Amino acid sequence: MTSKRYKFWSHHNRFRLMLTLGLAILLPAAALIFVNFHQLKSIKRDKKVEALIHRDFQYALAASEKRLNQKAYSMTEDLRGSFPSPDNGTEDEKASKLDLLLSKNPWLAHVFLFDSEKGLVFRSQPGQMDDKYCREEHDEIKEGFGGWFRLEGKTLVEAMHKKSRPFTWYTSPTKRAGGDAYITTAFFVLPQVSKDRVVLGGASFDPNYMKKTFFPEMLDELITQKLTEEKGERLAMMVYPAGEDGGHENEPLVASAGWTKGKPEVTRKLDDVFRGLALGIKFQGTSVDAIGRRWVMQSFLILGVLSLLMVGGLVLTYRSVSKEMALAHLKSDFVSNVSHELRTPLALIRLYAETLELGRINTQEKQEEYYRIIRKESERLTALINNILDFSRIEAGRKEYDFRETDMAELVRNTLDSYRYQIEQQGFAFEQSIEASIPAMRVDREAIARALVNLVNNALKYSADEKFLRVKLYRADDSLKLEVVDRGIGITRREQSKIFEKFYRTGDPLVHNTKGSGLGLSLVRHITHAHGGQVEVESTPGKGSKFIMTLPLAAAAQ
Ligand code: ADP
Repeated sequence: MTSKRYKFWSHHNRFRLMLTLGLAILLPAAALIFVNFHQLKSIKRDKKVEALIHRDFQYALAASEKRLNQKAYSMTEDLRGSFPSPDNGTEDEKASKLDLLLSKNPWLAHVFLFDSEKGLVFRSQPGQMDDKYCREEHDEIKEGFGGWFRLEGKTLVEAMHKKSRPFTWYTSPTKRAGGDAYITTAFFVLPQVSKDRVVLGGASFDPNYMKKTFFPEMLDELITQKLTEEKGERLAMMVYPAGEDGGHENEPLVASAGWTKGKPEVTRKLDDVFRGLALGIKFQGTSVDAIGRRWVMQSFLILGVLSLLMVGGLVLTYRSVSKEMALAHLKSDFVSNVSHELRTPLALIRLYAETLELGRINTQEKQEEYYRIIRKESERLTALINNILDFSRIEAGRKEYDFRETDMAELVRNTLDSYRYQIEQQGFAFEQSIEASIPAMRVDREAIARALVNLVNNALKYSADEKFLRVKLYRADDSLKLEVVDRGIGITRREQSKIFEKFYRTGDPLVHNTKGSGLGLSLVRHITHAHGGQVEVESTPGKGSKFIMTLPLAAAAQ
């Protein structure tokens, strides 16, 4: 294949690869990222995360109100069950029964029993009566309820009978020594009393109990319940007086632990039992806005990282596939190179052998020359085939080395000797410098010789104008160095790292016109590594190259 067609093919394949990558991976992934990005932007714009949290808060507050009411109902239902009958005993006896209820239920401020025929019995917790506000309240309520029941009692009782639970509630502001307070009163009709009688009982929750015990405990319970439901930010709740304006500015009446200053995120005006009060909820130490912003930020970040990973993956895929493609090209190149390299010596051998056979060569000298050519060409063939066999063993992982105690100087000298004639015949100035007193090492002789032959062959093949070769063997510290130097075409820096790869040949025109398989240097590297050593190249294009094999003296004997 000429190099022009070659280029075309590789461009064509590269284009197809890009197209596949683009259509199969890049396009869908980019679309996905684009859609996600826009979704995130709309979530950010419409504050969807915030809305979601707010809705969740609303549910939480609705559930909390239900729970508060339940608790208040269950407390008063028990009380209603033990209320004295309006028909037993004198007024005094009823009063002392009510007093008994008060002493059994210290959370009560007042209890009372109204009978339209007998009037109102109103009792207050005796212990509270030193608070002047309590005494005032006692007088006011007693007076107020008495009048109210006489006027409205009938309507009130009738209305309660119609309900599934015969209760009516009234929550109003009041005062205590400790400050502003709220008093909640329950009215109920009594069981076992005929429906057409205007008889009702009632009880007021002690404002101090509500403020110090009931609400704080309930808020804690509600918050922990909500927390175990969803592990996340810590919540804070509070109860506050619901003003006409929604009461946002009002100070909390009772707040849970962790309620710092600031507006509640969501509020709910309470109805039924605690009408007049409101519930507020928010996060401890952060706001819904901040959480929404953080969520959006994190999502953008994740999306960004994912996109980066994807691009990275694409680049990696592209690179590894291009590498595979390049290797495939090199392989097909290799096949044509090797067949070419096999054909030439075979043709020569045949030509010279046939000429000799015909017996037309008269002079002894000529005959010897022909024989030598035949031997030389068959040696070249052997070397090539050995390279290929070695290479295939290495590829299959079956290459074995046979380490033996060896005099390296002698090995190098002998190898070069059998090449000297060829080197000089090609017009090379040949320098050989082998240091004396090199200790014996354990090496695979055949392999080391093959590595050296490959390096020498390359020097011969890739020299053009100045034909010079120097082989040097010397000791440096605790390693042995074998240098092969030429003044040939040299190798660019970019290609210096690649020439040791299998099949690789540089783009130099001389290289393309010279026979080669691209296996030699990869063998050299494998052999040196097997001996625990290293092979390096120093080269300047146009000036020449120096290959240095470094073998450790100590470790070589593994
Ligand atoms: P080849 O059979 O092509 O010689 P090698 O593996 O021995 O295979 O070498 C790989 C490539 O490295 C060669 O094709 C050539 O481009 C380059 N190369 C090797 N040795 C030299 C050298 N001494 N001078 C310049 N280029 C060299």
